[in-house]
Amino acid sequence: MRITVSVIKADVGGIGGHTRPSDALLKAVMEVVSGSDLPLDRYVGYCGDDTHIVMSHTRGTGDPEIHRLAWDAFMAGTQVAREEGLYGAGQDLLKDSFSGNVKGMGPGVAELEFEERPNEAFTVFAADKTEPGAFNYPIYRMFADSLSNTGLIVNKSLAEGVRVSIMDVEKGRIARLELWQDKPTIEAALMYPGRYVVESVSTRDGEPILAASTDRLHNIAGTYVGKDDPVCLVRTQKRFPATEEVGSAFDNPHYVAGNTRGSHNMPLMPVPLNSAASINFCIPIVCSLVFSMHGGRFTGPFDGFSTPDWDRPRRIAAERAAAMRSQGFIHPATLVPSELEYAEGYRARMEVLESRMEEMEQAETGAARQKYEDPD
Ligand SMILES: [Mg+2]
Repeated sequence: MRITVSVIKADVGGIGGHTRPSDALLKAVMEVVSGSDLPLDRYVGYCGDDTHIVMSHTRGTGDPEIHRLAWDAFMAGTQVAREEGLYGAGQDLLKDSFSGNVKGMGPGVAELEFEERPNEAFTVFAADKTEPGAFNYPIYRMFADSLSNTGLIVNKSLAEGVRVSIMDVEKGRIARLELWQDKPTIEAALMYPGRYVVESVSTRDGEPILAASTDRLHNIAGTYVGKDDPVCLVRTQKRFPATEEVGSAFDNPHYVAGNTRGSHNMPLMPVPLNSAASINFCIPIVCSLVFSMHGGRFTGPFDGFSTPDWDRPRRIAAERAAAMRSQGFIHPATLVPSELEYAEGYRARMEVLESRMEEMEQAETGAARQKYEDPD
């Protein structure tokens, strides 16, 4: 049976800021997706202020009706958010009306179509207060780093290497590369998560393993409208990485761009399902939804980051966050100017600085140099 799993997410409002959707908002979203018989199954949850919808169906990826259903659900959530006065009501819905595919309209999308295995297993990772490139490091650990994943040595399919599609999110282009021959090229791309992000991974013979959302909201809207918080869908077990191999790729909280005002670098903290964003300067968070599926019916999600061992990465993330925050606004605590989400405010400051700039007189420069070279 060919099944498509669609994960579609959007921030359509948070309680008192960018914290979490309200219960009424979530209920409105769930009512719309439950009221349709298009999906075989559906799940609605949240990570920080982002509401995610997970659906199984037989309509393929990019299906207009499935996308419309998600759009309508988020519109219903937006209506509730407006009635409740939630912050950022409808902020990720960048267009007034639906036009066939939610991609490019604000919501993040990760979808895979495949022949369902008898005991299909997959995990959804949903992150908040960061950007699509936040998954570069864990995806690299899953598929290219055998020190992180022994499966790359002992699993025949993984040892052969995988195909990796990398998107240039600035220019909307895609490069199709392969492990192991393109490893240094893949590494060079993943080095800069603000521009190059993993879009999908498949086996060498074309079996889909992973899809990630790649839209950057400020590239769509042309200005800051909120963080482009990503989702990622990974099939696990058998020919693919084990569930615990994809989960453990998040056990070393690496620094990612985002957090408060989308303008800082902070570590990515693994958190339980349906966690609110922290108001401690918005430490970036990621949750894991572990599913089984049979005939398109979900069992789960099991909360992948709920077991006691995940308290240690959480503590490490809190310590790394405090270390970075201890240097305030000084780069690399803040992003480089081109990556600041509040670039307009920064530019206004820089215009003032520019207006105060004066050319240094040649004589003055020479005198200063002389003084430096000969202090007496
Ligand atoms: Mg968010």
